Amino acid sequence: MTKVKRVYSFGNKQAEGKADMKSLLGGKGANLAEMNLIGVPVPPGFTITTEVCAEYNKLGKKKVIELLKDEVKQAMKNVESIMGYKFGDQDNPLLVSVRSGARASMPGMMDTVLNLGLNDDAVKGIASKTNNKRFAWDSYRRFVQMYGDVVLGMKPASKEDVDPFEEIIENVKSSKGVENDTDLTTEDLKVLVLRFKKAVKDVTGKDFPADPWEQLWGSICAVFDSWMNERAIVYRQLNQIPEEWGTAVNVQAMVFGNMGDSSGTGVAFTRDAATGENLFNGEYLINAQGEDVVAGIRTPQQITKEGSLRWAKLAGIDEDERITIYPSLEETMPKIYKELNEIQKKLESHYKDMQDLEFTIQEDKLWLLQTRNGKRTAASMVKIAMDLLREGAIDEKTAILRLEANKLDELLHPVFDQEAISEANVLAKGLPASPGAATGEIVFFADEAETWKAQGKEVLLVRIETSPEDLAGMNAANGILTARGGMTSHAAVVARGMGKCCISGAGSINIDYKKRQLLIDGKIFKEGEWLSINGSTGEVYEGKIKTIDPELSGDFGEIMKLAFKYRKMGIRTNADTPQDAWVARTFGAQGIGLCRTEHMFFEEDRIIVMREMILAENEAGRRKALEKLLPMQRSDFEGIFEAMEGLPVTIRLLDPPLHEFVPHDQENQKVMADDMGVSVEVIKKKVEDLSEFNPMLGHRGCRLGITYPEITEMQARAIIEAALNLKAKGIKTIPEIMVPLIGTVQEFKMQEEIIRLTAEKVFKEKGDTIEYLVGTMIEIPRAAITADEVAERAEFFSFGTNDLTQMTFGYSRDDAGKFLPVYIEKGILKNDPFQILDQTGVGQLIEIGVKKGRSVRKNLKIGICGEHGGEPSSVEFCHRTGMDYVSCSPFRVPIARLAAAQAAIKEM
Ligand code: PEP
Ligand code: MG
Repeated sequence: MTKVKRVYSFGNKQAEGKADMKSLLGGKGANLAEMNLIGVPVPPGFTITTEVCAEYNKLGKKKVIELLKDEVKQAMKNVESIMGYKFGDQDNPLLVSVRSGARASMPGMMDTVLNLGLNDDAVKGIASKTNNKRFAWDSYRRFVQMYGDVVLGMKPASKEDVDPFEEIIENVKSSKGVENDTDLTTEDLKVLVLRFKKAVKDVTGKDFPADPWEQLWGSICAVFDSWMNERAIVYRQLNQIPEEWGTAVNVQAMVFGNMGDSSGTGVAFTRDAATGENLFNGEYLINAQGEDVVAGIRTPQQITKEGSLRWAKLAGIDEDERITIYPSLEETMPKIYKELNEIQKKLESHYKDMQDLEFTIQEDKLWLLQTRNGKRTAASMVKIAMDLLREGAIDEKTAILRLEANKLDELLHPVFDQEAISEANVLAKGLPASPGAATGEIVFFADEAETWKAQGKEVLLVRIETSPEDLAGMNAANGILTARGGMTSHAAVVARGMGKCCISGAGSINIDYKKRQLLIDGKIFKEGEWLSINGSTGEVYEGKIKTIDPELSGDFGEIMKLAFKYRKMGIRTNADTPQDAWVARTFGAQGIGLCRTEHMFFEEDRIIVMREMILAENEAGRRKALEKLLPMQRSDFEGIFEAMEGLPVTIRLLDPPLHEFVPHDQENQKVMADDMGVSVEVIKKKVEDLSEFNPMLGHRGCRLGITYPEITEMQARAIIEAALNLKAKGIKTIPEIMVPLIGTVQEFKMQEEIIRLTAEKVFKEKGDTIEYLVGTMIEIPRAAITADEVAERAEFFSFGTNDLTQMTFGYSRDDAGKFLPVYIEKGILKNDPFQILDQTGVGQLIEIGVKKGRSVRKNLKIGICGEHGGEPSSVEFCHRTGMDYVSCSPFRVPIARLAAAQAAIKEM
C-alpha cells in the first residue's frame, strides 16, 4: 500500500508542492511552494494538506495528530536547518506561524496564530538574540492573547462582551496613565503576560501550555476547527465554496516586522485593485506586525512615491507632513523597495495576473509571506484582463475565462445623479475603498443591517471598523462606511470582493455605538437617518441622493465583443415593455425570449377593462371586454416589435390566475364596484369564486385559454395584427407565440388550433400574411417527460425553470422563503434552486425534454426563460444541453453573454 503524503515542505528555493496543487495544498500553500520554486525569498515552512481537514472532521483530533506526527516532526527539522534556529530551544528558539489556507481565498474568515513557540524561557532567548527585550515580551503577550482567543476559545462570543485580554490591557494602560499600546514598557508587558495567563487559568481551569509542541498541535487543530466556524460558513455560502474542500494548514518560520526601525510589514498589489490601473501600489508600516496594517489602528503609509503623493492629495495632507510623517517605502528604504518592485514584476509575469502580496522586512531583509491573485472590483477585473491581453501576457480565451461573470453586475450598478450630487452637501472624506454610489439609512451593527434589509429598508452600514463577523451585514447593506482603516482594511477588501460601495478610514466621523449616533462636521446623525457615500471618490454626503445607471467603459464593450465571438448560444431578454426591450438591446440582447403579457393589463385604464372581462357572466360579455383590450394589446406589441427591429420576439399568452387581477381588500373592492357600476356584494362574490386553495397549481396558464378560448383568440389577433401593421411600415417581425404551462400535447393542440385559425382569419381580412411560430413553455414535469409528443406540434420549446423547479421539488415559489434558508443552513440544499438551477434534478428533466423534443423535430428551437437564464452556472448547463439561447432580465444580459462564451471556451 502506498503511503499517503500529508505534509509538504518548502524553503530555501525548494518545495515539494507547486502552484497547480491548490486543491491539495490550498491557495496559500501552493503559492508558497511556487514562490520558492521561482526564487522569491519566503520563510521556510510546511503545508498540511486539505485532505487532512476531511480526516480531521471524520476521525477527530487524537487520531489525526497520530497520523501526522512523524511527517510534521520531519518537516520541522527541515525548517530548523534552513533558519538555523530550533523549535523549543531556550537560547535560539524558532518561532512559527500557523495559518489556514483554503483552495479559494477566504480573507480573514479562519484563524491564525503567530509567534508560536514562545514561553517563559524562549522569550528570554529572543530578547537576548535580538537585543530587544521589549520586542520579545511584546511578541510573547501577543502570542498568549492570540492563542487564548483562537485556540482556547476565549474570544468574546457577542459584540456586547469584552475581550478579556483587551480589558486587561486597558486596565494596565489606565493605571499607567498611557494611551497607546506602544507606550507600555517591557515591565508592563511582563505584567500583561502574567495577567493573561492567569485569565487563561481562571477561564479554562488549565495552565497556559508552555510546551511548544503542545502549542503547535493546539493551533493546527484550531485552524481545522475554524473551517466550520460561523463566519467561514457564511462566507462559503455567499461565495459558493463547497464545505468538502476543507482548509490546509500552513506552518511557517516567523519573521518579524516589529524589530525596530529597520523592520516593517506591508501588503501590496501589482495593479490597482479598484481601477485596474497598471500601478504597483500598497501600504506598509515601520516597526509593526502584519495585522497592524489591516487592523486600522495606525495609518499605513504608501509603498510607492506616486501612490503616496496621490494619497496625500486625497487625504488633504501637505507635502511637509507627508514626507516627515507618512513617507513612502520608496523614499524610506530605497533598496528594499527596489527588490520588492522586482519581485512584484516577477510574480505578476509568472502568474500572468494581478497579485496581492504580503511582505515583511526583518532588519533590512525582505521576506515575501504570501502572493495570490488579487481580489478586485469589476471595473478593475475588466481593465486588467483587457490590459493583459493587449500586453500579450494572455490570449483572448484566457481573458474571457479570467472574468467572473456575476461580477459584471457591479458595473451595471448605479452612480449618483449629476444634478442631485452637485447640490449635495459633502460632510466628510475617507478613502475610496470600493467604487460605486450608495445611499441608505444609517445602521451601526451588522446584524441589524440584516434585519432592516429584511424589512425592506435601504441601509448603510457605518462602523468604526469591520471584522469578519460583520460579513452578512455588509452583504445586506447598500454600502459600508468606516471611520478607521486603510485601503487594505477588512472593510475595503471585503467590500471590493462583494462589489459593494465602501469608504474606509473616514477619520473625521465620530461614532458612538452606545448612543447609536455619529458626529460629522459638528452635526449629529442618528441611526435611521440617511447618508450617501461615493466609493469612487471617498466622499460622504448628507441625506438621500438620487442614483442613476452607469455608463459602460470601452474595455467593457471589448469584452462583450469577445464574448460574442466565442459564445455559441444566443442571448435573449425577458421584457414586457418597449422600454425594457430598448435597455436589453443596448446590452446586446438578440431577441426577446419571454414577453409576459399579463403585465400589460395592470395599467390604470386596462385593469378596469380586464376586470370587466373577469366579471362578465358569459362569453358574450367577455368578448365585449376583450374587444376593448384588443387595440391596447396590439399597440403594446407594436411598440415591442418596433424596439426589437426584426429580432425574434416570443410572446406568451396570459398565464396568471385571474384572481391576481381583482382586489382582495374591502376598500379597493368598493372602488372596483363603483368603477363597474355594480354592488360591492357582486365583487365580493366574484373574488370568492376566483379564490383557489393553491392558485399556482390552479386555474392558470393554458387552462385559462382552454376554458375561455376567446382570450387566446384576442391575444393571437393582437399579435398578428401588430406584426402585419409593422410589415406595412417596412419592419419585419417573426412573432413566436408561446402557450404557457402545458402538461399534455392535447392542451397545446387545442390552443395552437385557435391561434392558427385566428391568424388565417386576420390574413384574409388584411389581405397579407407573415411568418410566425407557435411553441410552448416546458415548465411542468409531464411536459418535459412527454416532450416527443409535444414536439410533434410545437415549433419551439422554452424551459420555464421557475415553475419547473417549483413542480419538480414541490416547493411553492411563493412560500419557499419560509423554509429554504433553513434547508441551506442545514446543508440539505447547497443553494436556492430558484436562483441556481438544480442540475441534478431539474436538469435531468431539461435534458430529457431537449433529447425527446429533438428526437422528433431535429432542429427544434430551444431556450430557457426562467430566472436561471442569467445565472452563470445555469447558463453553462444550458450550453452543455445544446440549447439555442438563454433569456434573462435586461441587466443580466451581459452576464449571460459572458457566461455563454466561457461555457463554449471550456468545451473547446
Ligand atoms: C417560468 O416559470 O420559469 C417562467 C418563466 O414563467 P413565470 O415565471 O412567469 O411563471
Ligand atoms: Mg411559469
